[in-house]
Amino acid sequence: MKDAKQLWKEVQDVLSKELSVVAMEVWIQPLEPVCIYGNKLILLAVLKNAKASIMRNYSEKIRNAINDVNTFVTDFDVITEDERQAYESGNVEKKEEPKENKCVFDPCFTFDNFVIGGSNQIAYAAAKAVAQNPGQQHNPLFIYGGVGLGKTHIMHAIGNHIYSKNPSAKILYVTTAQFINDFIDSIRNNNDNENRMFREKYRDVDVLMLDDIQFIAGKEATQEALFHTFNDLYHFKKQIILSSDRHPKELTFLDERLRSRFSYGLTCDITAPDIETRIAILERKAYAKKCAVPSDVLNFIAENINTNIRELEGALNKVIFYAALVGREIDSVDIVKEALKDEIESGSHALTIDTIVEKVCSYYNVSKKDLVGKKRTSAITEPRFMCIYLINDILSLPLVAIGEYFGGRDHATIIHARDKVAMALENDMKTKIDFKNLKNMIMRK
Ligand code: ADP
Ligand code: MG
Repeated sequence: MKDAKQLWKEVQDVLSKELSVVAMEVWIQPLEPVCIYGNKLILLAVLKNAKASIMRNYSEKIRNAINDVNTFVTDFDVITEDERQAYESGNVEKKEEPKENKCVFDPCFTFDNFVIGGSNQIAYAAAKAVAQNPGQQHNPLFIYGGVGLGKTHIMHAIGNHIYSKNPSAKILYVTTAQFINDFIDSIRNNNDNENRMFREKYRDVDVLMLDDIQFIAGKEATQEALFHTFNDLYHFKKQIILSSDRHPKELTFLDERLRSRFSYGLTCDITAPDIETRIAILERKAYAKKCAVPSDVLNFIAENINTNIRELEGALNKVIFYAALVGREIDSVDIVKEALKDEIESGSHALTIDTIVEKVCSYYNVSKKDLVGKKRTSAITEPRFMCIYLINDILSLPLVAIGEYFGGRDHATIIHARDKVAMALENDMKTKIDFKNLKNMIMRK
Protein backbone atom coordinates (compact mmCIF):
# COMPACT_ATOMS: atom_id res chain seq x y z
CA MET A 1 0.00 0.00 0.00
CA LYS A 2 1.30 3.45 -0.86
CA ASP A 3 1.79 5.91 1.95
CA ALA A 4 0.63 9.50 1.76
CA LYS A 5 4.07 10.75 0.80
CA GLN A 6 4.52 8.32 -2.07
CA LEU A 7 1.00 8.88 -3.33
CA TRP A 8 1.38 12.66 -3.23
CA LYS A 9 4.62 12.39 -5.18
CA GLU A 10 2.90 10.42 -7.93
CA VAL A 11 -0.09 12.77 -7.93
CA GLN A 12 2.29 15.71 -8.36
CA ASP A 13 3.89 13.98 -11.34
CA VAL A 14 0.48 13.76 -12.97
CA LEU A 15 -0.38 17.33 -12.04
CA SER A 16 2.86 18.75 -13.39
CA LYS A 17 1.77 17.70 -16.87
CA GLU A 18 -1.51 19.55 -16.43
CA LEU A 19 -0.62 22.70 -14.55
CA SER A 20 1.74 25.54 -15.26
CA VAL A 21 5.08 25.85 -13.52
CA VAL A 22 3.71 28.83 -11.58
CA ALA A 23 0.69 26.93 -10.34
CA MET A 24 2.86 24.02 -9.30
CA GLU A 25 5.33 26.17 -7.41
CA VAL A 26 2.89 28.53 -5.77
CA TRP A 27 0.04 26.19 -4.89
CA ILE A 28 0.84 22.51 -5.26
CA GLN A 29 4.41 21.96 -4.14
CA PRO A 30 4.00 23.78 -0.80
CA LEU A 31 1.28 21.29 0.23
CA GLU A 32 2.49 18.68 2.65
CA PRO A 33 1.06 15.16 2.66
CA VAL A 34 -0.15 14.33 6.18
CA CYS A 35 -1.84 10.94 5.95
CA ILE A 36 -4.45 8.91 4.16
CA TYR A 37 -7.75 9.10 5.97
CA GLY A 38 -10.49 6.80 4.71
CA ASN A 39 -10.48 7.32 0.96
CA LYS A 40 -8.91 10.75 1.26
CA LEU A 41 -5.40 12.01 0.94
CA ILE A 42 -4.98 14.70 3.60
CA LEU A 43 -2.77 17.62 2.62
CA LEU A 44 -1.59 20.43 4.83
CA ALA A 45 -1.57 24.03 3.61
CA VAL A 46 0.99 26.01 5.50
CA LEU A 47 -0.60 29.32 4.57
CA LYS A 48 -4.15 29.57 5.86
CA ASN A 49 -5.42 31.50 2.87
CA ALA A 50 -4.05 28.98 0.43
CA LYS A 51 -6.75 26.44 1.21
CA ALA A 52 -9.61 28.45 -0.32
CA SER A 53 -7.68 29.20 -3.52
CA ILE A 54 -6.59 25.61 -3.94
CA MET A 55 -10.06 24.23 -3.41
CA ARG A 56 -11.51 26.76 -5.79
CA ASN A 57 -9.04 26.56 -8.59
CA TYR A 58 -7.43 23.16 -8.45
CA SER A 59 -9.70 20.73 -6.59
CA GLU A 60 -10.97 19.09 -9.74
CA LYS A 61 -7.49 18.68 -11.23
CA ILE A 62 -6.09 17.31 -7.96
CA ARG A 63 -8.98 14.87 -7.62
CA ASN A 64 -8.56 13.68 -11.20
CA ALA A 65 -4.82 13.22 -10.68
CA ILE A 66 -5.46 11.18 -7.52
CA ASN A 67 -7.80 9.00 -9.51
CA ASP A 68 -5.19 8.61 -12.21
CA VAL A 69 -2.85 7.01 -9.69
CA ASN A 70 -4.64 3.77 -9.13
CA THR A 71 -5.26 3.27 -5.42
CA PHE A 72 -8.31 3.14 -3.21
CA VAL A 73 -7.80 6.83 -2.51
CA THR A 74 -10.24 8.81 -4.63
CA ASP A 75 -10.44 12.19 -2.96
CA PHE A 76 -8.48 14.65 -0.88
CA ASP A 77 -8.84 17.36 1.69
CA VAL A 78 -6.72 20.34 2.52
CA ILE A 79 -6.30 21.09 6.22
CA THR A 80 -4.57 23.83 8.16
CA GLU A 81 -2.07 23.45 10.96
CA ASP A 82 -4.71 23.45 13.75
CA GLU A 83 -6.42 20.41 12.27
CA ARG A 84 -3.22 18.50 11.75
CA GLN A 85 -2.93 16.94 15.19
CA ALA A 86 -6.41 15.48 15.06
CA TYR A 87 -5.57 13.76 11.79
CA GLU A 88 -2.21 12.51 12.96
CA SER A 89 -3.72 10.98 16.09
CA GLY A 90 -6.73 9.65 14.17
CA ASN A 91 -9.17 11.70 16.29
CA VAL A 92 -11.08 13.35 13.53
CA GLU A 93 -14.73 14.08 13.96
CA LYS A 94 -16.57 13.50 10.75
CA LYS A 95 -17.47 16.89 9.44
CA GLU A 96 -21.03 17.20 8.22
CA GLU A 97 -21.13 18.65 4.74
CA PRO A 98 -22.84 22.00 5.04
CA LYS A 99 -26.46 21.66 4.06
CA GLU A 100 -26.87 25.31 3.33
CA ASN A 101 -25.24 26.51 0.19
CA LYS A 102 -25.13 30.09 1.26
CA CYS A 103 -21.48 30.37 2.00
CA VAL A 104 -20.28 28.63 -1.13
CA PHE A 105 -19.76 31.93 -2.89
CA ASP A 106 -16.30 33.37 -2.66
CA PRO A 107 -16.66 36.88 -1.23
CA CYS A 108 -13.85 38.05 -3.52
CA PHE A 109 -15.66 36.94 -6.65
CA THR A 110 -17.97 39.93 -7.05
CA PHE A 111 -19.00 42.13 -9.94
CA ASP A 112 -17.02 44.96 -8.35
CA ASN A 113 -13.86 42.90 -8.45
CA PHE A 114 -14.39 41.87 -12.03
CA VAL A 115 -12.36 43.91 -14.48
CA ILE A 116 -14.29 44.56 -17.66
CA GLY A 117 -12.68 44.55 -21.08
CA GLY A 118 -13.55 43.71 -24.66
CA SER A 119 -13.07 40.03 -23.93
CA ASN A 120 -15.76 39.77 -21.29
CA GLN A 121 -18.06 42.78 -21.39
CA ILE A 122 -21.01 40.98 -22.94
CA ALA A 123 -20.81 38.12 -20.47
CA TYR A 124 -20.52 40.68 -17.68
CA ALA A 125 -23.58 42.63 -18.81
CA ALA A 126 -25.62 39.46 -19.27
CA ALA A 127 -24.61 38.18 -15.84
CA LYS A 128 -25.52 41.48 -14.23
CA ALA A 129 -28.93 41.45 -15.91
CA VAL A 130 -29.55 37.91 -14.68
CA ALA A 131 -28.39 38.79 -11.16
CA GLN A 132 -30.81 41.73 -11.08
CA ASN A 133 -33.77 39.75 -12.41
CA PRO A 134 -33.21 36.05 -11.99
CA GLY A 135 -35.56 33.89 -14.01
CA GLN A 136 -37.05 36.85 -15.86
CA GLN A 137 -34.95 37.12 -18.97
CA HIS A 138 -32.01 35.18 -20.39
CA ASN A 139 -32.90 31.71 -19.24
CA PRO A 140 -30.65 29.79 -19.27
CA LEU A 141 -27.59 31.97 -19.23
CA PHE A 142 -24.81 30.00 -20.88
CA ILE A 143 -21.26 31.32 -20.47
CA TYR A 144 -18.42 29.67 -22.31
CA GLY A 145 -14.69 30.22 -22.70
CA GLY A 146 -11.25 28.73 -22.05
CA VAL A 147 -9.86 27.94 -18.62
CA GLY A 148 -8.97 30.69 -16.20
CA LEU A 149 -10.91 33.40 -18.00
CA GLY A 150 -13.46 34.20 -15.31
CA LYS A 151 -16.47 31.90 -15.79
CA THR A 152 -16.54 30.73 -12.20
CA HIS A 153 -15.88 34.26 -10.98
CA ILE A 154 -18.92 35.52 -12.87
CA MET A 155 -21.15 32.77 -11.52
CA HIS A 156 -20.08 33.53 -7.97
CA ALA A 157 -20.63 37.23 -8.63
CA ILE A 158 -24.22 36.49 -9.63
CA GLY A 159 -24.67 34.42 -6.46
CA ASN A 160 -23.16 37.11 -4.23
CA HIS A 161 -25.29 39.79 -5.85
CA ILE A 162 -28.57 37.89 -5.49
CA TYR A 163 -27.86 37.10 -1.83
CA SER A 164 -27.01 40.67 -1.06
CA LYS A 165 -30.44 41.73 -2.34
CA ASN A 166 -32.37 38.74 -1.13
CA PRO A 167 -30.73 36.75 1.65
CA SER A 168 -33.45 34.11 1.59
CA ALA A 169 -33.02 33.28 -2.11
CA LYS A 170 -32.34 29.62 -2.75
CA ILE A 171 -29.31 29.48 -4.93
CA LEU A 172 -27.53 26.27 -5.69
CA TYR A 173 -24.09 26.42 -7.24
CA VAL A 174 -22.44 23.10 -8.03
CA THR A 175 -19.67 21.89 -10.22
CA THR A 176 -20.80 19.40 -12.82
CA ALA A 177 -18.68 16.78 -11.06
CA GLN A 178 -20.75 17.36 -7.93
CA PHE A 179 -23.98 17.04 -9.91
CA ILE A 180 -22.78 13.74 -11.36
CA ASN A 181 -21.81 12.45 -7.91
CA ASP A 182 -25.14 13.46 -6.42
CA PHE A 183 -26.97 11.74 -9.23
CA ILE A 184 -24.95 8.55 -8.85
CA ASP A 185 -25.58 8.58 -5.10
CA SER A 186 -29.28 9.00 -5.71
CA ILE A 187 -29.57 5.90 -7.86
CA ARG A 188 -26.92 3.73 -6.22
CA ASN A 189 -29.16 1.90 -3.80
CA ASN A 190 -32.38 2.27 -5.68
CA ASN A 191 -33.57 3.97 -2.58
CA ASP A 192 -36.62 6.23 -2.75
CA ASN A 193 -35.34 8.44 -0.04
CA GLU A 194 -32.08 9.22 -1.82
CA ASN A 195 -33.96 9.70 -5.02
CA ARG A 196 -36.20 12.22 -3.39
CA MET A 197 -33.25 14.04 -1.83
CA PHE A 198 -31.69 14.50 -5.23
CA ARG A 199 -34.92 15.83 -6.67
CA GLU A 200 -35.44 18.21 -3.78
CA LYS A 201 -31.91 19.46 -3.83
CA TYR A 202 -32.04 20.35 -7.52
CA ARG A 203 -35.70 21.28 -7.96
CA ASP A 204 -36.32 23.30 -4.86
CA VAL A 205 -34.19 26.28 -5.88
CA ASP A 206 -34.65 29.71 -7.38
CA VAL A 207 -31.35 29.63 -9.18
CA LEU A 208 -29.30 26.62 -10.28
CA MET A 209 -25.72 27.10 -11.44
CA LEU A 210 -23.81 24.25 -13.03
CA ASP A 211 -20.15 24.99 -13.59
CA ASP A 212 -18.10 23.27 -16.32
CA ILE A 213 -20.95 21.39 -17.95
CA GLN A 214 -18.58 19.85 -20.52
CA PHE A 215 -17.66 17.26 -17.87
CA ILE A 216 -21.03 15.63 -18.37
CA ALA A 217 -19.59 14.05 -21.55
CA GLY A 218 -20.20 10.33 -21.68
CA LYS A 219 -22.53 10.36 -18.67
CA GLU A 220 -25.76 9.40 -20.42
CA ALA A 221 -27.92 8.77 -17.38
CA THR A 222 -26.78 12.00 -15.73
CA GLN A 223 -27.64 13.87 -18.94
CA GLU A 224 -31.11 12.42 -18.75
CA ALA A 225 -31.43 13.57 -15.12
CA LEU A 226 -30.21 17.02 -16.10
CA PHE A 227 -32.73 17.14 -18.93
CA HIS A 228 -35.63 16.60 -16.51
CA THR A 229 -34.18 18.96 -13.92
CA PHE A 230 -33.78 21.60 -16.61
CA ASN A 231 -37.33 21.20 -17.87
CA ASP A 232 -38.84 21.51 -14.42
CA LEU A 233 -36.84 24.56 -13.44
CA TYR A 234 -37.41 26.21 -16.79
CA HIS A 235 -41.12 25.57 -16.61
CA PHE A 236 -41.33 27.28 -13.22
CA LYS A 237 -39.23 30.20 -14.45
CA LYS A 238 -36.32 29.38 -12.19
CA GLN A 239 -33.01 30.75 -13.36
CA ILE A 240 -30.48 28.31 -14.79
CA ILE A 241 -26.87 29.32 -15.34
CA LEU A 242 -24.37 27.08 -17.08
CA SER A 243 -20.71 27.38 -17.89
CA SER A 244 -18.64 25.39 -20.32
CA ASP A 245 -15.34 25.48 -22.13
CA ARG A 246 -17.15 25.63 -25.46
CA HIS A 247 -20.32 26.77 -27.24
CA PRO A 248 -23.39 24.53 -26.77
CA LYS A 249 -23.19 23.64 -30.47
CA GLU A 250 -19.77 22.17 -29.85
CA LEU A 251 -20.92 19.93 -27.03
CA THR A 252 -21.35 17.27 -29.66
CA PHE A 253 -21.46 14.42 -27.16
CA LEU A 254 -24.62 15.84 -25.64
CA ASP A 255 -28.07 14.61 -26.32
CA GLU A 256 -29.54 16.93 -28.94
CA ARG A 257 -32.50 17.78 -26.69
CA LEU A 258 -30.20 19.13 -24.00
CA ARG A 259 -28.00 20.95 -26.46
CA SER A 260 -30.92 22.82 -27.93
CA ARG A 261 -32.24 23.70 -24.48
CA PHE A 262 -28.91 25.17 -23.51
CA SER A 263 -29.37 27.64 -26.35
CA TYR A 264 -32.89 28.73 -25.33
CA GLY A 265 -31.70 31.78 -23.47
CA LEU A 266 -28.56 33.79 -23.92
CA THR A 267 -25.19 32.35 -24.83
CA CYS A 268 -22.10 34.49 -24.44
CA ASP A 269 -18.40 33.87 -24.51
CA ILE A 270 -15.40 35.11 -22.61
CA THR A 271 -12.17 35.24 -24.58
CA ALA A 272 -8.58 35.84 -23.60
CA PRO A 273 -8.06 39.39 -22.33
CA ASP A 274 -6.11 41.94 -24.35
CA ILE A 275 -3.04 43.65 -22.93
CA GLU A 276 -4.92 46.64 -21.47
CA THR A 277 -7.32 44.37 -19.62
CA ARG A 278 -4.44 42.23 -18.38
CA ILE A 279 -2.72 45.31 -16.96
CA ALA A 280 -5.96 46.50 -15.35
CA ILE A 281 -6.47 43.08 -13.78
CA LEU A 282 -2.94 43.05 -12.39
CA GLU A 283 -3.43 46.53 -10.95
CA ARG A 284 -6.60 45.41 -9.27
CA LYS A 285 -5.04 42.25 -7.86
CA ALA A 286 -1.92 44.08 -6.60
CA TYR A 287 -4.14 46.66 -4.94
CA ALA A 288 -6.23 43.94 -3.29
CA LYS A 289 -3.06 42.45 -1.88
CA LYS A 290 -2.05 45.90 -0.64
CA CYS A 291 1.12 45.56 -2.61
CA ALA A 292 2.65 48.56 -4.33
CA VAL A 293 3.90 47.30 -7.67
CA PRO A 294 5.24 49.88 -10.14
CA SER A 295 3.48 50.09 -13.47
CA ASP A 296 6.48 49.03 -15.57
CA VAL A 297 6.55 45.81 -13.58
CA LEU A 298 2.84 45.19 -14.12
CA ASN A 299 3.23 45.94 -17.82
CA PHE A 300 6.09 43.51 -18.08
CA ILE A 301 4.11 40.71 -16.43
CA ALA A 302 1.08 41.45 -18.61
CA GLU A 303 3.18 41.39 -21.76
CA ASN A 304 4.80 38.10 -20.92
CA ILE A 305 1.90 36.13 -19.50
CA ASN A 306 -0.85 36.09 -22.05
CA THR A 307 -2.59 32.77 -21.62
CA ASN A 308 -5.28 33.38 -19.05
CA ILE A 309 -6.14 35.33 -15.94
CA ARG A 310 -5.43 32.54 -13.51
CA GLU A 311 -1.86 32.30 -14.82
CA LEU A 312 -1.56 36.06 -14.72
CA GLU A 313 -2.62 36.13 -11.09
CA GLY A 314 -0.31 33.19 -10.36
CA ALA A 315 2.61 35.08 -11.88
CA LEU A 316 1.92 38.16 -9.78
CA ASN A 317 1.67 36.00 -6.65
CA LYS A 318 4.93 34.37 -7.49
CA VAL A 319 6.68 37.71 -7.89
CA ILE A 320 5.32 38.92 -4.53
CA PHE A 321 6.25 35.63 -2.90
CA TYR A 322 9.75 35.70 -4.37
CA ALA A 323 10.40 39.32 -3.35
CA ALA A 324 9.36 38.52 0.23
CA LEU A 325 11.54 35.42 0.22
CA VAL A 326 14.69 37.22 -0.88
CA GLY A 327 13.80 40.31 1.16
CA ARG A 328 13.74 42.79 -1.70
CA GLU A 329 11.38 45.45 -2.95
CA ILE A 330 9.51 44.92 -6.20
CA ASP A 331 11.08 48.00 -7.70
CA SER A 332 12.19 46.95 -11.15
CA VAL A 333 11.59 44.51 -13.95
CA ASP A 334 14.76 42.65 -12.91
CA ILE A 335 13.17 41.00 -9.92
CA VAL A 336 10.27 39.87 -12.12
CA LYS A 337 12.69 38.32 -14.58
CA GLU A 338 14.30 36.40 -11.74
CA ALA A 339 11.03 35.32 -10.14
CA LEU A 340 9.44 34.27 -13.43
CA LYS A 341 12.58 32.85 -14.94
CA ASP A 342 11.01 29.50 -15.76
CA GLU A 343 7.85 30.89 -17.29
CA ILE A 344 9.56 33.52 -19.37
CA GLU A 345 12.43 31.36 -20.56
CA SER A 346 10.43 28.26 -21.32
CA GLY A 347 7.92 30.56 -22.91
CA SER A 348 5.15 28.00 -22.58
CA HIS A 349 2.75 30.90 -22.15
CA ALA A 350 3.84 32.41 -25.45
CA LEU A 351 3.08 29.34 -27.51
CA THR A 352 1.52 30.11 -30.83
CA ILE A 353 -0.23 28.11 -33.52
CA ASP A 354 2.91 28.42 -35.62
CA THR A 355 5.05 26.67 -33.03
CA ILE A 356 2.62 23.78 -32.78
CA VAL A 357 2.28 23.48 -36.55
CA GLU A 358 6.05 23.51 -36.95
CA LYS A 359 6.48 20.66 -34.44
CA VAL A 360 3.71 18.60 -35.99
CA CYS A 361 5.20 19.05 -39.48
CA SER A 362 8.63 17.94 -38.40
CA TYR A 363 7.25 15.04 -36.34
CA TYR A 364 5.26 13.60 -39.24
CA ASN A 365 7.64 14.89 -41.88
CA VAL A 366 5.04 16.80 -43.88
CA SER A 367 5.16 20.34 -45.23
CA LYS A 368 3.19 23.17 -43.68
CA LYS A 369 1.62 23.88 -47.07
CA ASP A 370 0.17 20.37 -47.19
CA LEU A 371 -0.82 20.39 -43.54
CA VAL A 372 -3.05 23.44 -43.85
CA GLY A 373 -3.96 22.70 -47.48
CA LYS A 374 -6.67 20.68 -49.14
CA LYS A 375 -5.04 17.26 -49.68
CA ARG A 376 -7.05 14.46 -48.13
CA THR A 377 -4.79 11.41 -48.21
CA SER A 378 -4.47 9.69 -44.87
CA ALA A 379 -0.76 10.54 -44.78
CA ILE A 380 -1.79 14.16 -44.47
CA THR A 381 -5.15 14.06 -42.68
CA GLU A 382 -3.71 12.22 -39.70
CA PRO A 383 -1.14 14.93 -38.91
CA ARG A 384 -3.68 17.63 -39.75
CA PHE A 385 -6.26 16.24 -37.31
CA MET A 386 -3.64 15.77 -34.62
CA CYS A 387 -2.45 19.32 -35.14
CA ILE A 388 -5.97 20.69 -34.79
CA TYR A 389 -6.46 18.65 -31.66
CA LEU A 390 -3.22 19.89 -30.14
CA ILE A 391 -3.97 23.53 -30.92
CA ASN A 392 -7.36 23.22 -29.30
CA ASP A 393 -5.95 21.33 -26.34
CA ILE A 394 -2.99 23.58 -25.63
CA LEU A 395 -4.13 27.03 -26.70
CA SER A 396 -7.91 26.74 -26.16
CA LEU A 397 -8.43 28.89 -29.23
CA PRO A 398 -11.95 29.26 -30.60
CA LEU A 399 -12.62 26.63 -33.25
CA VAL A 400 -13.47 29.30 -35.79
CA ALA A 401 -9.98 30.77 -35.44
CA ILE A 402 -8.41 27.35 -35.93
CA GLY A 403 -10.58 26.84 -39.00
CA GLU A 404 -9.36 30.09 -40.47
CA TYR A 405 -5.77 29.06 -39.98
CA PHE A 406 -6.44 25.77 -41.71
CA GLY A 407 -7.35 27.31 -45.04
CA GLY A 408 -10.77 28.68 -44.04
CA ARG A 409 -12.30 25.37 -42.98
CA ASP A 410 -15.62 25.80 -41.22
CA HIS A 411 -15.87 25.06 -37.57
CA ALA A 412 -17.86 21.83 -38.05
CA THR A 413 -14.85 20.40 -39.89
CA ILE A 414 -12.62 21.41 -37.00
CA ILE A 415 -14.96 19.75 -34.49
CA HIS A 416 -14.94 16.61 -36.61
CA ALA A 417 -11.13 16.56 -36.64
CA ARG A 418 -10.89 17.18 -32.93
CA ASP A 419 -13.48 14.53 -32.01
CA LYS A 420 -11.84 12.00 -34.26
CA VAL A 421 -8.54 12.36 -32.42
CA ALA A 422 -10.33 12.38 -29.05
CA MET A 423 -11.88 9.05 -29.97
CA ALA A 424 -8.61 7.59 -31.27
CA LEU A 425 -6.92 8.62 -28.02
CA GLU A 426 -9.28 6.28 -26.22
CA ASN A 427 -8.50 3.17 -28.20
CA ASP A 428 -5.56 3.59 -30.55
CA MET A 429 -2.07 3.10 -29.17
CA LYS A 430 -0.25 4.90 -31.99
CA THR A 431 -2.39 8.01 -31.59
CA LYS A 432 -1.74 7.95 -27.86
CA ILE A 433 2.01 7.75 -28.33
CA ASP A 434 2.08 10.42 -31.03
CA PHE A 435 0.03 12.73 -28.88
CA LYS A 436 2.24 12.25 -25.85
CA ASN A 437 5.45 12.75 -27.81
CA LEU A 438 4.17 15.84 -29.57
CA LYS A 439 2.79 17.42 -26.46
CA ASN A 440 6.09 16.91 -24.67
CA MET A 441 8.00 18.40 -27.60
CA ILE A 442 5.72 21.42 -27.78
CA MET A 443 5.65 22.13 -24.08
CA ARG A 444 9.44 21.90 -23.89
CA LYS A 445 9.69 24.13 -26.95
P1 ADP B 1 -12.64 29.86 -15.17
O1 ADP B 1 -13.79 29.44 -14.29
O2 ADP B 1 -13.09 30.49 -16.45
O3 ADP B 1 -11.64 28.77 -15.39
P2 ADP B 1 -12.08 31.63 -12.94
O4 ADP B 1 -13.39 32.29 -12.82
O5 ADP B 1 -11.76 30.58 -11.92
O6 ADP B 1 -11.86 31.03 -14.40
O7 ADP B 1 -10.96 32.76 -12.93
C1 ADP B 1 -9.59 32.48 -12.66
C2 ADP B 1 -9.02 33.60 -11.82
O8 ADP B 1 -8.97 34.79 -12.59
C3 ADP B 1 -9.86 33.92 -10.59
O9 ADP B 1 -9.00 34.20 -9.51
C4 ADP B 1 -10.62 35.15 -10.99
O10 ADP B 1 -10.92 35.99 -9.90
C5 ADP B 1 -9.68 35.83 -11.94
N1 ADP B 1 -10.40 36.60 -12.97
C6 ADP B 1 -10.94 36.12 -14.10
N2 ADP B 1 -11.50 37.12 -14.83
C7 ADP B 1 -11.30 38.24 -14.12
C8 ADP B 1 -11.64 39.61 -14.35
N3 ADP B 1 -12.26 40.01 -15.45
N4 ADP B 1 -11.28 40.51 -13.41
C9 ADP B 1 -10.62 40.13 -12.30
N5 ADP B 1 -10.26 38.86 -12.03
C10 ADP B 1 -10.59 37.92 -12.93
MG1 MG C 1 -14.16 27.58 -13.45
